Amino acid sequence: MRSLEDAALEAATCTRCRLSQGRTQVVYGVGNPDADLMFIGEGPGYHEDKQGEPFVGAAGQLLNRMLAEIDIRREDVRITNCVLCRPPGNRDPSPDEIEACRPWLDEQIALVDPVVIVTLGNFATRTILNRQVSISRVRGQRFPWGGRTVIPTFHPAAILRGGGESSTQMAALRADFQEIRRALAERPQPAEEQLGLF
Ligand code: URA
Repeated sequence: MRSLEDAALEAATCTRCRLSQGRTQVVYGVGNPDADLMFIGEGPGYHEDKQGEPFVGAAGQLLNRMLAEIDIRREDVRITNCVLCRPPGNRDPSPDEIEACRPWLDEQIALVDPVVIVTLGNFATRTILNRQVSISRVRGQRFPWGGRTVIPTFHPAAILRGGGESSTQMAALRADFQEIRRALAERPQPAEEQLGLF
């Protein structure tokens, strides 16, 4: 398998779908290339497109806050999106755009090799689970997926658009992050794996 840097370099010139025409740059992903925890959002917004980094706007601030609440640093996780280029005017990505971008996502997952994948919102959850589920029904649950665990939760932007800090969705997001922490704590620790060799 090639390196994450090589994959990102090739993705930077991608023209597989029409989103390439309106982008400032491809937003490949950010964070630990070897992370145990990976977040998948929908697609870059205005700020992400300008800065070349996923989740740097208001939704990203909320994501950072949720990470801090479970004592995880943003630089220790991997963050990417279903589509790597900003849909014009922040419209929803279309099925053919998600499909065109899918090989980049699958490759990034394979290269990072996370133990837990958190899908943020309906788009990422449906893309990964390959089912037309509703996020409010599946959030907080663990789904086995190719030897990994997928945990869907609400998209932080949906919380910001909805009830905000005191909403039931926000309480659910908090509970889901605790579940993420538990799922991570249950993974085999590297030291134990090494001991197992002897
Ligand atoms: N929303 C997303 O889904 N992804 C981002 O990178 C930013 C906002």
